[in-house]
Amino acid sequence: MAAKGGKFGHWAALIWRPGNIPAVIALMVMLAAGAFADYQNGVLFAQSQRADVLARLNVIRARLEGNINANIQLVRGLVSVISTEPDIEAPRFTALAANLFLQDSQLRSIAAAPGMVVTMVYPVAGNERALGLDYRTNPAQRDAAMRAKQHNQLVLAGPVKLVQGGEGFVGRFPVYQPDDFGRQHFWGLVSAVIDVDRLYSDSGVTDPGLGIVLAISGRDVQGSKGSRFFGPGSVISGDPVTADVFLPAGSWQISAIPTGGWQTTAPNAWLLRLAMLVAAALVVVPLLVSGRLIAERHINIKQLREREQQLARLSRRLELALDTSKVGVWEMDIASGDLHWDDRMNELYGLPTDGGSRSYHDWRNALHPDDADRASLDFRKALNSRGRYYSEYRLLLPDGQERNIRAIGAIYEDPDAPPRIVGVNWDVSVDVALNEDLRRAKSQADARNAELEVAKASIEYNALHDSLTGLPNRRYLDQMLKQRAAHCRREGGSISLLHIDLDRFKQINDTLGHAAGDAMLIHASEVLKDKVRDDDFVARIGGDEFVVVCTSKGRPRDLSTLADRIIATMRDPVAYQGHECRFGVSVGIATEAGTGVDPNRLLINADIALYRAKSRGRNRHEFFSDALQAEIVTTKKVADDILSGLERNEFVAYYQPQFDARTLDLIGVEALVRWQHPSQGLLAPDRFLRIAEELNVLASIDRLVLDQALALQRRLNIDHKVLPRISVNVSSRRLHDETLIANLRELDIEPGTVAFELVESIYLDESDEIVGWNIDQIKELGIDIEIDDFGTGYASIVSLLKLKPNRLKIDRQLVEPIVSSPSQRHLVESIIEIGQSLGIGVVAEGVESMEHARILGEIRCDILQGYAFARPMSAADLEAFILRDAWRKVS
Ligand code: C2E
Ligand code: CA
Ligand code: CA
Repeated sequence: MAAKGGKFGHWAALIWRPGNIPAVIALMVMLAAGAFADYQNGVLFAQSQRADVLARLNVIRARLEGNINANIQLVRGLVSVISTEPDIEAPRFTALAANLFLQDSQLRSIAAAPGMVVTMVYPVAGNERALGLDYRTNPAQRDAAMRAKQHNQLVLAGPVKLVQGGEGFVGRFPVYQPDDFGRQHFWGLVSAVIDVDRLYSDSGVTDPGLGIVLAISGRDVQGSKGSRFFGPGSVISGDPVTADVFLPAGSWQISAIPTGGWQTTAPNAWLLRLAMLVAAALVVVPLLVSGRLIAERHINIKQLREREQQLARLSRRLELALDTSKVGVWEMDIASGDLHWDDRMNELYGLPTDGGSRSYHDWRNALHPDDADRASLDFRKALNSRGRYYSEYRLLLPDGQERNIRAIGAIYEDPDAPPRIVGVNWDVSVDVALNEDLRRAKSQADARNAELEVAKASIEYNALHDSLTGLPNRRYLDQMLKQRAAHCRREGGSISLLHIDLDRFKQINDTLGHAAGDAMLIHASEVLKDKVRDDDFVARIGGDEFVVVCTSKGRPRDLSTLADRIIATMRDPVAYQGHECRFGVSVGIATEAGTGVDPNRLLINADIALYRAKSRGRNRHEFFSDALQAEIVTTKKVADDILSGLERNEFVAYYQPQFDARTLDLIGVEALVRWQHPSQGLLAPDRFLRIAEELNVLASIDRLVLDQALALQRRLNIDHKVLPRISVNVSSRRLHDETLIANLRELDIEPGTVAFELVESIYLDESDEIVGWNIDQIKELGIDIEIDDFGTGYASIVSLLKLKPNRLKIDRQLVEPIVSSPSQRHLVESIIEIGQSLGIGVVAEGVESMEHARILGEIRCDILQGYAFARPMSAADLEAFILRDAWRKVS
C-alpha cells in the first residue's frame, strides 16, 4: 500500500510541477471539447436512427390503414345494399358477398344477422356454426353488437379468437332501413371478419426484411389505451418510435425499434475520438516538453546558486582556518620555478607581506644552516618522485630567532596548465618544544621507575623475609611449601618439616632484655643454617619458632640425627655481654610423600609432634605418627568430657588425712580432686589433669576443690575444731591469675586453717611479678605455703630462703625407699634437718607402711600422709573416719 501510495505521489508530483500547468489546462480543455463533440455525435446518430425507424414505421402504418379501410369499404357496400333490400334472402346475400370476395381483400367471412340472429353467412363452408347465433343472447358478442346497434356505427373489435379457428378483427355494421316516412328502423347486423394473418402479411407487418421490430397496441381500436396485441413487450419498453393507425371506429398505436435495439455508439465515434486525441496530443505534448525544459532550467539555476554559496562558504572557512592556524600556503610552477607565497608564508619566513614574487633561493636562504641541506634534499626528492612532499626543518630568521617549520605539499597536474607543486608550511616550534619536554619527562619517569623497581624488589624481599634473622618468614614458607608440595605431587619424593621451638627463650627475653633475646634468635638461626643442607629451607615463623623444610627424592632422610644435632648444638651456652645464656629446643617432625602431600597438614602435624616433644620433657624431638594423631583425638574427647563434666559438677574433692608424726593426731587433710565420670566411674587426676591444664580449666578445678574443702571444714568445725587445716593443690596457672587474691579475700579464710601446695617448679618462675606478688598476698591472708613434691625439682636453698614456705612436702619417690636404703634415709633426714634449721616444717607423703612412719618419726619428720594411715576418701567417708577416730586403731 505504501509503495502504491508512494508511486501515486510520485506521479502526482510529476504532473503538478509548475512547468506542466499550461499542458494540464490545455489537456482539460481538449478533453471537455472532445467529450462535447462525442456527445453531439451520439445525439445526431440517435436522431438519424429514429428518423429511419419512423420512416419505415410510417410505411407499415399507411399500409395497415389502407388495407383495413379498403376491407371496410367493401363491407359498407354490402351494408348499403342490404339496407335497401330488407328482405334479402340467402342466395342474394351469397351472390353479393361472393362478389365482394372477388376483390382483393383480407376479408375472411361475412355474416348477416337480421334481428340480431345470424341467418346468412359467406362463405358457408367452415362457418356453419355461426348460423343461428343470436347476438342478444351470446355473452361474448352481445356487448359489441348492442354498441353497434345503439350508436348506429361500425364497431371494430379484435383481434379475437375465432370459433372457426385463427384470429380476426371483427367489424360489426348496424343496418338501418328507412320507412316510408323517412324513419330509420334497425334491421340487424352485418359482421365481417378480417383475417389477421393476411392483414399483417399484406401490410408488411410480418415482413422479415423490415429491419425494425414492431408492436401494435390498442385492442378493439382503443388507441394507446388498448392493450398490445402484436409484437414483443420489449418494443414498448425499449423507447420506441410510435405512430397512430387511424381506423374508422378508433385507432391503434404502432411502435417500433430497430432490430437488435438502438445503437448507442455512432459508427464514426471511434474515428472521431481518435482524431480528437491526435489533436489533443498535438497541443499538449509540445506544452509538456516545454514545461519540462523550463523546470529543468529552474533546477539548474538553483543548483548553480547553491554551489556558488557552498563555494563561498568553503573559501570563507578555509580563509578562517588558514588565518587562525597561521598556515602559510605556497605554490610553485615546476617548469619555470615561479614561486608564490601568501601573506602568512611571508610572515613565517620573516619577509614583508608585499605579495611580491619569491624564488627557490628566498626559501633556501631562510633555512637554518644545519638543516638546509637536508631540507633541500627532501624537496628535490619530492619533485623527482612526483610524490608527496613532507619535511621538517628550522628557519634562521633575520632577527636571529629559530623557528621550527613543518612543510607538506603535493604535485598536481592540470591538463590545461603546467605541473605545479602546492603546499603549506606551519610553525611547529611549540610542538617541538613540547616533544622535547615529553622526552625529558619520559627519561625522568624511566629513571624513577627503575628506582621503584628496586624499591619494589626490596619490599618484596622484606615481605618474604624476617628482618631480624634474614631468614624467610611465614609467608615465604607457605609459598615454598606450596611449590614443593606441587613438585612432590608431580615428581614423587617426600617433604619433611621440622618444627623447632626454643625452650626458655621467654625467660632470657624477660631477664636479659630484648636485645639478648634478639641475639639468641640470630644465634639460633645461624645454628640452623649451619646444620641443614643447602637445599633445605629454613624459616622463622614466629617469636621463637623455626621451621626446616627438607625434601628428598628417594630414601627418606635421617631426620632423627639432624634433629638431635640441632638440639645438641642449641644447648651449648651462648655468651652475651658477659652472661652465659642457655636455652634448649624441642623439635616436632612430620613427613609426607607423593601425591598426598598437603602443606597445611604438614604444618599441623609437625606442630602436634612438637607439642608432644615439649610435653615429654623438652630438648628432644618427636615424629608425628598416626598413634600420636589418635592420641590427640582421644585427648580431644576427654577435653570435651571435662568441659561438660565441669558444667554438670562431676568434679569432687577427696580428702587424705595428715597426722602429727609424734602424737598421730589428725592435723589436716589434703584435698585431691576426683572426677565422678558418668560412664567410667571415679577417675584419678592422672587421667584428666594434664588435659584440664591444656584446656586452661585447672584453675577452676582448684577453685572448686578449695570451695568444697572449705565448706566441709566449716561444717566439721562447727562444734569442735576437728579439722584444723586443709591443704589444696594450686596449679601454676592459678598463681598467675591476677584476680586470685581478690577471690581469696571473698572466701574469708581464717588464718592458719588453709595451706596451698605449690609444686617446686613454680618457684623457678620467680621472675614473674604476679606470681611473686600473689605468693606474698597469699601469705598475708594467713594461708600457709607448702612446697609440694620437694626433692624432684631444682629448688635451691637460696630460693627456699627467699620464699620462706611454711612447710616442705618430701616427694613420695624419696620417701618410698627409706625402709630399704639407708642412703635414701640419710637424704630424707638431711632435708628434714635443712627444713628445721630454716624454721620450715616437713611433711612426708607416700607413707605406705607403719615402718615408714616409724623411721620418719625417728628422723623427726613433722607430718605424715600416706596409705599406711588412710587413702584419699570422700567427704562423707572422712566425716565417718573422724568420728570413729579410726586412725587410732591403726596405730
Ligand atoms: P600430689 O600433690 O603429690 O598428691 C598426692 C598423691 O599421692 C595423690 O594422688 C595421693 O592419692 C597419692 N598418695 C597418697 N598416699 C600415698 C601412698 O602411701 N602411696 C602412694 N603411692 N601414693 C599415695 P592423686 O590423688 O592421684 O593425685 C595426683 C596428683 O594430682 C597430685 O599429686 C597433685 O599434683 C595433683 N592434684 C590432685 N588434686 C589436685 C587439685 O585439686 N589441684 C591440682 N592443681 N592438682 C591436683
Ligand atoms: Ca599435693
Ligand atoms: Ca606430692
